[in-house]
Amino acid sequence: MRIDNPKLISALPDLGIELRNGSALSELTSLGIGGTTDLLRIKKHEGIPDLLNLLDSNGVPHRFLGGGSNLLVGDGELPWVVVQLARPEPDVVLEGNLARVDAAADLGGMEGLIGVPGTVGGALRMNAGAYGMQIGTYVREVKLYRAAARKIEILRGDQISFEYRHTSFAPDDMMLAVTLELPSKPFKEILQGIRICNEKRRSSQPLGQKSAGCIFKNPPGASAGRMIDELGLKGSNVGDARVSDRHANFFVNAGTASAKDMLTLIGQVHEKVRASFGVELENEVVFWTV
Ligand SMILES: Cc1cc2nc3c(=O)[nH]c(=O)nc-3n(C[C@H](O)[C@H](O)[C@H](O)COP(=O)(O)OP(=O)(O)OC[C@H]3O[C@@H](n4cnc5c(N)ncnc54)[C@H](O)[C@@H]3O)c2cc1C
Repeated sequence: MRIDNPKLISALPDLGIELRNGSALSELTSLGIGGTTDLLRIKKHEGIPDLLNLLDSNGVPHRFLGGGSNLLVGDGELPWVVVQLARPEPDVVLEGNLARVDAAADLGGMEGLIGVPGTVGGALRMNAGAYGMQIGTYVREVKLYRAAARKIEILRGDQISFEYRHTSFAPDDMMLAVTLELPSKPFKEILQGIRICNEKRRSSQPLGQKSAGCIFKNPPGASAGRMIDELGLKGSNVGDARVSDRHANFFVNAGTASAKDMLTLIGQVHEKVRASFGVELENEVVFWTV
């Protein structure tokens, strides 16, 4: 979608918004799949309420993009624009055990979450987690744009529910910054934790290939990857969309896969798991295909 209203375009600089015309989402997502649209980069949080009001009143739909590491984006010209936080300097301020982190910051610092790509905003939205840890555990407060109130507010951690890859934020809330309360630990222990988690990732995930992490959530008490593996589906493909040989719940773009290829492959695997195990797998990856 292209923003062509001159009044809207001329209002953007004062709101601290940079307009990048015709951005290819295939270049902004870890799967390397996705069509084209206008990208609005936010350089100051205060401009967000006015920006979103302007988009609404001009009938311009929008989606929030973080690091693009958990997204499957549709092909061709996209019917919405993308809004993304620019990364400020500094993006992390440490005070004792508290880390104040801008939502555009790249994630780091928690052993299990080392190696999860993307921004802190995306990690909050998804309640990103790995190896028994999840970011929600450490959230003391979140600064966010609340779509219902149309203003920027602060929520305490205990006002937010964090579940397995699910949070109680409204779909059109935008996370702007977070304060994390991190436990004190001996440095050696932290380093050891990071090493172990890194090693687990390296030995089990196709890190050199384009993916969006796990395609499906694990059903309660079961592993989506194990079920897909047991069906012998590692390596199966639709065009360049392929079930990874290393990790059956990672689907990779082995070349120039389209969203259509990836959706077809996901649909086929979903159906085979349902037919063999009677389990309805739920997507972990967020689909921006409609
Ligand atoms: C190799 C690889 C390994 C991975 N391993 C893991 C893992 O171990 N554990 C795990 O949990 N995930 C994993 N992932 C998935 C992904 O990294 C996480 O879900 C990550 O938290 C997504 O962050 P992002 O900034 O890239 O979000 P995006 O992919 O850009 O967006 C994901 C969702 O969050 C929303 N969003 C993003 N930023 C904001 C914001 N500021 N405000 C409101 N909504 C926002 C988007 O609208 C979208 O709905 C992996 C991905 C890859 C490629």
